[in-house]
Amino acid sequence: MASQKQNDSSAAGYQPLFKSFATDAIHVGSEPEQWNSRAVVPPISLSTTFKQHGPGKHAGFEYSRSGNPTRSCLERAVAALDGAQYCLAIASGTAAILTITHLLKAGDGILCMNDVYGGTNEYLSKIAAEFGLAVCFVDLTKLELLKAALKPNTKMLWIETPTNPTLKVVDIKGCADIVHEHNKDIIVVVDNTFMSSYFQRPLALGADICMYSATKYMNGHSDVVMGLISLSRDDLNERLKFLQSGKDLSIYLSIYLSIYLSIYLSICLSVYLSIYLSIYLSICLPSHPQHELTKRQCTGCPGMISFYIKGKLEHASTFLRSLKLFTLADSLGGVESLAEHPVSMTHVSVPENEKKELGISDTLIRLSVGLEDEENIIADLDQALRTAVSISEHISFLHSLT
Ligand SMILES: *Cc1c(COP(=O)(O)O)cnc(C)c1O
Repeated sequence: MASQKQNDSSAAGYQPLFKSFATDAIHVGSEPEQWNSRAVVPPISLSTTFKQHGPGKHAGFEYSRSGNPTRSCLERAVAALDGAQYCLAIASGTAAILTITHLLKAGDGILCMNDVYGGTNEYLSKIAAEFGLAVCFVDLTKLELLKAALKPNTKMLWIETPTNPTLKVVDIKGCADIVHEHNKDIIVVVDNTFMSSYFQRPLALGADICMYSATKYMNGHSDVVMGLISLSRDDLNERLKFLQSGKDLSIYLSIYLSIYLSIYLSICLSVYLSIYLSIYLSICLPSHPQHELTKRQCTGCPGMISFYIKGKLEHASTFLRSLKLFTLADSLGGVESLAEHPVSMTHVSVPENEKKELGISDTLIRLSVGLEDEENIIADLDQALRTAVSISEHISFLHSLT
């Protein structure tokens, strides 16, 4: 479903699209020659176990948790899309996070971007820390803070970019260069869930591991929970394969984008914006503070948009309840548009003071823009904004200022 319109990504100043992306997505891992039947679409392998030629002599697969033909098709496809040697499919994005952090041992230090997926924050601060990992959250948009946070026991750097939900962009290469100069063994991990393989290749920017909640854009249909880990280092791959606990899950790769809405919102709704919204965040707009960095390290932008609605909690709440096309739900990256309220939904577990520091306030709203018709999406946002923040309120707000 990758849009043809994105073919002029380099003309727009972004990195050029990755070569042969569509061909690889369709063909790598799905070669009909691997099946006796010559099936064009890989058959789903349901078997938990595989017949061996002789004791300890198997034909590539033994037991489905450690690997099976269907999962192998997917892993080869995603490795190609990430420009990686290896890929491991895991039961969920969270299971991928857990598996990767199990590369560390008690006493090791992990530096993590301070604005990350709520579950990552919760896992690192409430579970990994209890098991003896020294967890430190840092604002990685400021490279000097990263330099200052490096310690002799630092073994892993966890980057998420753009961040969730406030869409800050982290310079992957800048961070990887700094930590690898400090100690080349520090494992640089990028959570690439928001960008997908289509827009960003962290391994080419110096990261050691690229991981996904494939539940989101990489699947694109909100019907699979899965994690993916791509990498090229043999030593890490061997250890991760040992740790891997996956499942046989089929996946529909349908990476897409929806930057048109952002552009429309910024241009045509500029009048409304000043009335209904205070700050509007989308990495594909020149007004985003790290738009230049985005163009340097990405081939384009996903359909994630966050904004602060004018007013208070009740305005955010009315807006979300007034939406008709957008579904009020957690998650993102599906073909259907979703809206959510980070402070009370995805980021409810983040401590109050951190939420405040990160800008996760009562009026912050996060949208995952789907593939419905543009005019319907915009009309829905428009009517919900009008319902939530009335013009008369805006006028009295203006009066209060004068
Ligand atoms: C959803 C999400 C995860 C967790 O993945 P699950 O598949 O839900 O376990 C991790 N990182 C990011 C950025 C996410 O959005």
